Amino acid sequence: MRATGRFAPSPTGPLHAGSLVAALASWLDVRARGDRARWLIRIEDADTERCLPGMGAHILQQLADCALLPDEPPEWQTQRTARYEAALATLQARGLAYPCGCSRKDIDLALARLGHTHERHGERVYPGTCRDGLHGKPARAWRFATHRMPGGELQWTDRRLGPQQQDVQREVGDFVLRRADGPWAYQLAVVVDDAEQGVTDVVRGEDLADNTARQILLQQALGLPTPSYLHTPLVRGADGDKLSKQNGATAIDTATPAAALAALDTAARALGLRPATAGDCAAALAGWVPEWRDLYNSRPS
Ligand code: GLU
Repeated sequence: MRATGRFAPSPTGPLHAGSLVAALASWLDVRARGDRARWLIRIEDADTERCLPGMGAHILQQLADCALLPDEPPEWQTQRTARYEAALATLQARGLAYPCGCSRKDIDLALARLGHTHERHGERVYPGTCRDGLHGKPARAWRFATHRMPGGELQWTDRRLGPQQQDVQREVGDFVLRRADGPWAYQLAVVVDDAEQGVTDVVRGEDLADNTARQILLQQALGLPTPSYLHTPLVRGADGDKLSKQNGATAIDTATPAAALAALDTAARALGLRPATAGDCAAALAGWVPEWRDLYNSRPS
């Protein structure tokens, strides 16, 4: 199979130092596999409420300024919704998706009744209230029926973080696939797209590592292959917190070739690569490929 990697930014803000690390790492991982490997860009605008107009095009320009050019035209999730519909229909037909009418308050009350105060990243583990029907409430979301999947710890190996495990049913619960008001959940869209685009190697920021078990479970439910996963180190802000668009991480400056090279250089250091010696982005990128291969042991395809 042709090695395929991707960078999948959400156009909720411009690229910042943290997202450039993920872009660079996924690009290097593909180039380290040899000439036949493909690097794709997918603009993850499925969650339309959080996306900013024009931001997808802006991110593509920032990447191009850094000589991070995809091997095929970028995909946009908003143009792929028919595929998500089909996947949800498959899950429904298999009894693996059910409508849920619970508001956040309903979920809190149900959890309190059960004596659960457990929160996970500020998210409640859905108590499964609507598994046996909507109880007269209108549907607010479609949820994945984790109780219909083989239970227990799901295990996988991350190429950087090593052996991982998560019991999705117990630790996450029946997660949302689609909200009734329209937007597709990241988990469903990313699984459908990675499979359809033939992605063999997912390389992305460590902040997303916790989603992996949910995605593997969905792949199993849909009969899709599971790619390899590598989660890159997080870039931390001066306050020690993870850098993200939400906590005001500043956009990288790619306005001049020198600025773009400096941004790439900072990203490369976060990955443990040596500072660039070459004078432009394309040459610096080429220089990091063998180093990446040594560090992360990419198999040539
Ligand atoms: N769109 C996601 C984000 O920007 C990344 C998805 C992924 O790489 O799986 O956080």
